[in-house]
Amino acid sequence: MPVRDAAERVTAARAAVGGAGYAGAVSHVVHGKPVVLGMPGVRRGTPRTGTPADRPDDPRLVDRFGRVATDLRVSLTDRCNLRCSYCMPAEGLDWIEDSRLLADHEVIRLITVGVERLGIEEVRFTGGEPLLRKGLERIVAATAALRTGTGRPVVTALTTNGLGLERRAAGLVEAGLGRVNVSLDTLDRARFTRITHRDRMEGVLAGLAAVDAAGLRPIKVNAVLLRGVNDDEAVPLLRWALREGYQLRFIEQMPLDPQGAWDRASMVTADEILASLTEHFTLTPTDPARRGAAPAETWLVDGGGPSGTATVGIVASVTRPFCGDCDRTRLTADGQLRDCLFARTETDLRGMLRDGADDETLASAWRTAMWAKRAGHGIDEESFLRPDRPMSAIGG
Ligand code: SAM
Ligand code: SF4
Repeated sequence: MPVRDAAERVTAARAAVGGAGYAGAVSHVVHGKPVVLGMPGVRRGTPRTGTPADRPDDPRLVDRFGRVATDLRVSLTDRCNLRCSYCMPAEGLDWIEDSRLLADHEVIRLITVGVERLGIEEVRFTGGEPLLRKGLERIVAATAALRTGTGRPVVTALTTNGLGLERRAAGLVEAGLGRVNVSLDTLDRARFTRITHRDRMEGVLAGLAAVDAAGLRPIKVNAVLLRGVNDDEAVPLLRWALREGYQLRFIEQMPLDPQGAWDRASMVTADEILASLTEHFTLTPTDPARRGAAPAETWLVDGGGPSGTATVGIVASVTRPFCGDCDRTRLTADGQLRDCLFARTETDLRGMLRDGADDETLASAWRTAMWAKRAGHGIDEESFLRPDRPMSAIGG
C-alpha cells in the first residue's frame, strides 16, 4: 500500500470521527522538518472521560482523542530463538503456558472480528519470534483473504528476526504476506552474538536474501543502536542497506527489557543518529503529510540515489513520541487486548471467547477498551511506569 494511501486514510478517519475538532499535536522543527510532539488533544465538543457511556455510537475503534485504530499488531508467541539484550534476558523468560495461548482458529476469529466489525485494515504479526509459530502461513492466508469494510484486501505484514525465513519466505508470500520487517542491529558477527547471545547472523542475512528472492519488496530492516555496543554502526548499516536495496529504520531503545537495564540518560537518541548520518549523507526530510500514522520519520538519502527511492527512517518513540498519530491496537499471544505497548491494563478477549461470547460481544469489548486509551505513553515523564510485560510478551 502506498504511504500516501496510509496518510489519506488517517486524515479521512480523523475527519469522520470528528477530526475537524481534533486539537492536534504540537509541532516544532528539527533538521528542517516539522516534528509532531506526541500528545493528542481531546476532541473539541466531545466528553472527556474514557467511560463507555461517553463513547459515541461508532462501530470503529475510536478514542476520546480523535484517533481511530486501524492497525492491529498480533503477537503469535512470546518465545524466541534469540536473546536480544534490550528485549529478553539471556536465560529466557517464564513462557506463557500452551493452554493459555490462542489456537490458530482463535487468532483468526479475533482478527476477523477486528476486520469485519471494527475497521482494521492492516494486520502485523510479531512476537516473540513469529516464525516459531507453526501455523503462521495458515494465519496469514486466512487474514489475507479478509476484506475491509470498503472491500479492500487486508494488508498483512510480519516483523521477524529473519531466522527460518530462508525456508519459509516463498510460502509466506504465496499465503499472501504483503510486507516484511527484519531486525538486524549489526553487521559484525561477534557483536551480533554479543547482542543476541546466539551466533546466528548468517541465518538472518540468508533470510533477508530469501525474502528478496521471493519478490517481497520493499524490505525494511529494523536496527536498535546500543551505547558502547553498536552505536558506531549507523553509517555502515545505512551504506549496506542502500547497497542491498533495503529500507533501514533505526528504533530508539525503549524501556521494555525485563532486566530493567534501560537508561534514558545513556540511550542512543534520534538526534545522535541523525548527527552521525548527516556527516556522510545528505538527508532530505520526506513530506510529513505522507507519514500518516507511520511511526518512522523518514529522509531521502542523497536525493534518493539513482533509483530516487533511497530512504532512511528513525522511530523515535522516546525523544519524539508519535502517540498523537497512533492508529494501533494490540493482541497478545494469550489473547489479551492492549491499547498501547505501554498499557497498564488489558482486556481478556481469550476468556470471553472461550466462555462462548459471540462476535458482536467481542467487538463491543474491544471498542470499549480502545475508547479508554490514554493520550500517550509518557516514557519521558517522571510518573512513567513500565508495563508489567516485557516487549517479547506484548509483541513489538
Ligand atoms: N522477534 C521479532 C523481531 O525481532 O523482529 C519480532 C518481535 S521484536 C519484539 C519487534 C521489534 O522490536 C524488533 O525490531 C526489535 O528490535 C524491537 N525491540 C525489542 N525490544 C526493544 C526495545 N526495548 N526498544 C526498542 N525496540 C525494541
Ligand atoms: Fe527475539 Fe525479537 Fe526480542 Fe530479539 S527483539 S529477543 S529477536 S523477540
